[in-house]
Amino acid sequence: MAKVSIHPAIDNGVGPAAAANFTGGTLQCKCTDRKVAVSIKGQSNYNHACGCTKCWKPAGALFSIVAAVSRDNLAVTANQDKLKVVDPNAVIKRYACAACGVHMYGRIDNTGHPLYGFDFVHTELSPDKGWEPPGFAAFVSSIIESGADPANMGAVRARLEQLGLEPYDCLSPPLMDFIATQLAKASGKKRNAVPA
Ligand SMILES: [Zn+2]
Ligand SMILES: [Zn+2]
Repeated sequence: MAKVSIHPAIDNGVGPAAAANFTGGTLQCKCTDRKVAVSIKGQSNYNHACGCTKCWKPAGALFSIVAAVSRDNLAVTANQDKLKVVDPNAVIKRYACAACGVHMYGRIDNTGHPLYGFDFVHTELSPDKGWEPPGFAAFVSSIIESGADPANMGAVRARLEQLGLEPYDCLSPPLMDFIATQLAKASGKKRNAVPA
């Protein structure tokens, strides 16, 4: 069986565990001149490999690696003028460097969206060490929409499992539960746990 390449940053393993007391870091675009810089306070959450067609990934990668951070903890600190929204109609507006194409962060403007408050970032763009490694793989079947061979999906899922990234065709159960809880709160259906 040919070796399956998921993403260059994790093809040799997902890397060390998140550093305790990690205080954050800076993401930089790939330009050699006037790099866009985005600073993040604190650790990211829910870092994962994503197979959707919208997340930014390096050339040739099957998956992106994307994590959530609180929008209050994210600030563009250099060359903001180079940022452009990739698709203004998308739920998550992805702010990309117009020169090199790298997505610096994705943001949800709809305050009613269950994931409102999270920004989405690629911590591989940061030279800082200590970020949490990816913990699962989301929207795995969607790589077919980007041109992956459907006949190879068994090998892709096997490789993800080998890397310790449980493959899901939506988000992970904790994230799906989080979204459903937000929707239940919004619709008034959420019940509080009754003490036994
Ligand atoms: Zn750039
Ligand atoms: Zn994605």
